[in-house]
Amino acid sequence: MSRHISSLLAIAAVCVTLTPAPASAQAPKKAPVDCTQVKCVALTFDDGPGKYAGTLLDTLKKYDAKATFFLEGQYVKSRPQFVKRMAAEGHELGNHSYKHPDFRTLETWEIRAEIKKTQDEIKKAAGVEPKLLRPPYGMADLTVSEIATEFGMPIILWTGGSEDWKTKNVEAIKKKTLEVAKPGSIILMHDWVKQTVDAMPSIVKSLQKKGYHLVTVSDIVKNENLQPGDVFPVPEGWEK
Ligand SMILES: [Zn+2]
Repeated sequence: MSRHISSLLAIAAVCVTLTPAPASAQAPKKAPVDCTQVKCVALTFDDGPGKYAGTLLDTLKKYDAKATFFLEGQYVKSRPQFVKRMAAEGHELGNHSYKHPDFRTLETWEIRAEIKKTQDEIKKAAGVEPKLLRPPYGMADLTVSEIATEFGMPIILWTGGSEDWKTKNVEAIKKKTLEVAKPGSIILMHDWVKQTVDAMPSIVKSLQKKGYHLVTVSDIVKNENLQPGDVFPVPEGWEK
């Protein structure tokens, strides 16, 4: 009897020894998602990093979801730790100007300064330079396109909005986001809206349940062959 117990203990000891380290300790790098083969959607968060970015990053990490953050240089400067974390956790960083002016009201040198200062702050915070530009309010014209070309960046707008800034209501944000989510969608959200961050666990779970992979904008536009200065999706009446 005691011999039986000791051999059970021996087996248990072997099991403990062979138990692999928790996945979070050293997760193997996964193959990139191929959005031509599976359903993809890109959630994008503008104007941040907002003060709730840490909670949002926790949610994204928990569900193994990626997002794209179009950052304002002024907040990158005041909350660099979030920006560093975004890059480290595999999210994409984009440039959304320094202080969110309407580019159409600025001189060209001022637009360049807004973009450059933000590139510099992001590089300082996270060690990477954004390759995508989203002008404040999505206001892109030929001048902005020319300047984006100088910076080597395409301009990324969105295919649908969560309208979170307008409703500021968890249920409404979830409903609208799921409504505009289609394969290949780029959805506009804001991480300064608390209700958006509160709604995220439920939104991510619902999207994943519908078979969506939550990926970065670059994953979505991979096969679009976007050139610097191009605008995507192409706005109605846009001619270059
Ligand atoms: Zn904005």
